[in-house]
Amino acid sequence: SKKSEFVVVANRLPVDRVTDEDGEATWRRSPGGLVTAIVPVMQRREGAWVGWQGSPDEDLEPFEAEGMTLSPVRLSGSDVELYYEGFSNATLWPLYHDVIARPVYRRSLWEAYERVNRRFAEAAADVAAEGAVVWVQDYQLQLVPKMLRELRPDLRIGFFLHIPFPPMELFQQLPWRREILEGLLGADLVGFQSRDGASNFVRLSRRFCDLKTQGHEVILDDRTVQADHFPISVDAQELITLSTQEDVKARAAEIREELGNPASILLGVDRLDYTKGIQQRLQAFTELFEDGRVKSGDAVFVQVATPSRERVEEYRILRDEIELQVGRANGMYAELGAPIINYMHTSHTRKELTALYLAADVMVVTPLRDGMNLVAKEYVACHGDLKGALLLSEFAGAANELHRAFLVNPYDIGGTKQRMYEAMHASPAERARRMRSMRRRVIEHDVDLWAKEFLEALENRR
Ligand code: UDP
Repeated sequence: SKKSEFVVVANRLPVDRVTDEDGEATWRRSPGGLVTAIVPVMQRREGAWVGWQGSPDEDLEPFEAEGMTLSPVRLSGSDVELYYEGFSNATLWPLYHDVIARPVYRRSLWEAYERVNRRFAEAAADVAAEGAVVWVQDYQLQLVPKMLRELRPDLRIGFFLHIPFPPMELFQQLPWRREILEGLLGADLVGFQSRDGASNFVRLSRRFCDLKTQGHEVILDDRTVQADHFPISVDAQELITLSTQEDVKARAAEIREELGNPASILLGVDRLDYTKGIQQRLQAFTELFEDGRVKSGDAVFVQVATPSRERVEEYRILRDEIELQVGRANGMYAELGAPIINYMHTSHTRKELTALYLAADVMVVTPLRDGMNLVAKEYVACHGDLKGALLLSEFAGAANELHRAFLVNPYDIGGTKQRMYEAMHASPAERARRMRSMRRRVIEHDVDLWAKEFLEALENRR
């Protein structure tokens, strides 16, 4: 079978199955940060992508779509439950996000994680040409670098973690902390979103694997592993093109109209996840009404909360809480036909999202912890008009780059409320100043540069 010089390994393939008008099943590029970021690079390099196709208990042969070879990995129903919903999303996800929710430590989940990681490593070993570059993605596959190196010592292996990498005090809790570190140390280059992630990793390798380190390198018997930070970004040019289309601008105007032309439209766009700080921001917004500082007609909050991980208990509880909160706030402060919070538990197309970004006076991105947050960068990329203000959490990776946002500590509801009010009332000149500086950063450091810098660093490894 066909071998590739460049292989990406990720939990999901970058496509979703859709049925067209004739009832024919086809594949369409899926939404989401990771996919948006890597597909353009894959297409240029004629690479192969190894990943799960999204439905359990289904055997699929490799196929071509979106200009690349897709190599499906089979997951059973119980793999999905234990490896994906379990160890990935009920153990690692909360542990790596400041234990905002309590991580589940269960041996059966760990065993499934090991078993499934091995399957991904074997699939990657199968499609990689001699000496190929393999780029492993994210927290679901941290054991793959080591497993793959054992199978194929000829490969050059990179790993990138899209979510935060926690400090010693938290990572220490993990019963399999040493195995995870050893898994990652199978790579030649381990990339993180932030400087803190990289230094946490180096420090932990010293502490729990008894290894020597030098600056950002971990020294093994026969080679070294480099840890560094590569903040991911967006396709700024694509967003600029989209946001200047007449139909998108017209839709933005229509949205403002539909919302009753309030003085301020505030917008949140998130997966419905407890890391995103949705409750805290809605609380802050509602208190502005409670305090009488904002009145119906002055401001409307639009919260898009995309359905996510609904089979994990925490997420179901969170959804109920948010829906109760929205109902209460509207019950108290809405007027006929004019809710103060427009809540949508649906996913939106890129076009509709872009129109929403354009319509929003204040983009509210207040996660309690977030590896990067692409929504913040998308909003900035879309505002060539230099209108709009970004309210941004200090705990989003994006805050390391977007210094001119209105920065907040999302746990501080009073402070968030104050900053939100300031963002709503900032003068056009101030908004333009801040937006211009943020746009310079996002346009210069776009997703192409991210991939290029990571792959160059990987190819320079000996
Ligand atoms: N997104 C989308 N449709 C939606 C909501 C979000 O396509 O209805 C996209 C959004 O444009 C962004 C990504 O999903 O590119 C979310 O990435 P982010 O880093 O903000 O958060 P994550 O979901 O990866 O935690």
